[in-house]
Amino acid sequence: MATGDGSQALKMIQETWPSLVLLDTTLQDTDGIELTRRIRAWEKSGTGTGISPWTPIVFLSSVTDEDTLAKGILAGGDDFLCKPVSEVVLLAKVRAMLRISTRQQEICEVHRQLKEIASLDSLTGIPNRRHFDDTLSIEWKRCIRNETPLSVILSDVDFFKQFNDIYGHQAGDSCLKAVASSLSESLFRVEDTVARYGGEEFIAILPGTDANGAYAVAERMRQSAIDLCIPHERGIDGRVSCSFGVASTHPSPDSAPQQLVKTADNGLYTAKNAGRNRVIVKLE
Ligand code: GH3
Ligand code: MG
Ligand code: MG
Repeated sequence: MATGDGSQALKMIQETWPSLVLLDTTLQDTDGIELTRRIRAWEKSGTGTGISPWTPIVFLSSVTDEDTLAKGILAGGDDFLCKPVSEVVLLAKVRAMLRISTRQQEICEVHRQLKEIASLDSLTGIPNRRHFDDTLSIEWKRCIRNETPLSVILSDVDFFKQFNDIYGHQAGDSCLKAVASSLSESLFRVEDTVARYGGEEFIAILPGTDANGAYAVAERMRQSAIDLCIPHERGIDGRVSCSFGVASTHPSPDSAPQQLVKTADNGLYTAKNAGRNRVIVKLE
């Protein structure tokens, strides 16, 4: 693809993500340098904390003014070729740039995978505590902006120490995996998240859901854990069950998300004391 117009070039680059940009401009023409700056700025925008994408930019120039060439490289150019360019040299340089750019894309992909792994709990495969903390803080702010409620559900496997003592730690691990899946599958909205909070505790974030809605979701979670029918001779009705504490609020800049989790924890404590395998909603 080729164009002689700077703005159109940027538009084409943004739309097609080319593997390489050959910028045929006299380097005295600052437009080429400005275009390079704009390409680099665009690459950096919108990547958040990730590695930004990179397109090799090679100047094709008929000028050999070193200062201008240096400016072009400073602006974000990667290399230059002086015209007239032999086909062999051009192809060799293109090949070298593409080799680097392929490596860079591989690094981006590995980085993406590592970020994903870093946010998942290795045993259960659901989001981990770190992911929960990040998500809660993001959703808290979103709910302030949207003036919508936010609920959390804290759950804990009942008599799990005894489960490990009776059936062994490996069976305990399998049980946690199954419980994690059943709790995840009880959430139907894409914006809802359930994470492993700690040992045998799980926590769900429900943005835009009030206390009544959260209670219904927690009941569904409770039932789905029971429906796994994992035998537990010291459990409620001979099965593995979970207890749940629910808290809901309208987030505001004066309140903190930690308080909401604390309130849900109070609810969980009450649920345990009231006999386990139940949902208790705590109002703040
Ligand atoms: P309660 O009904 O009051 O919640 O009693 P509990 O026995 O479930 O609670 P407690 O906090 O006394 O015990 C939690 C147990 O969870 C103890 C610990 O060995 C077990 N546990 C925590 N993490 C893991 C894990 O990753 N794998 C296994 N197998 N067990 C775990
Ligand atoms: Mg516990
Ligand atoms: Mg427990």
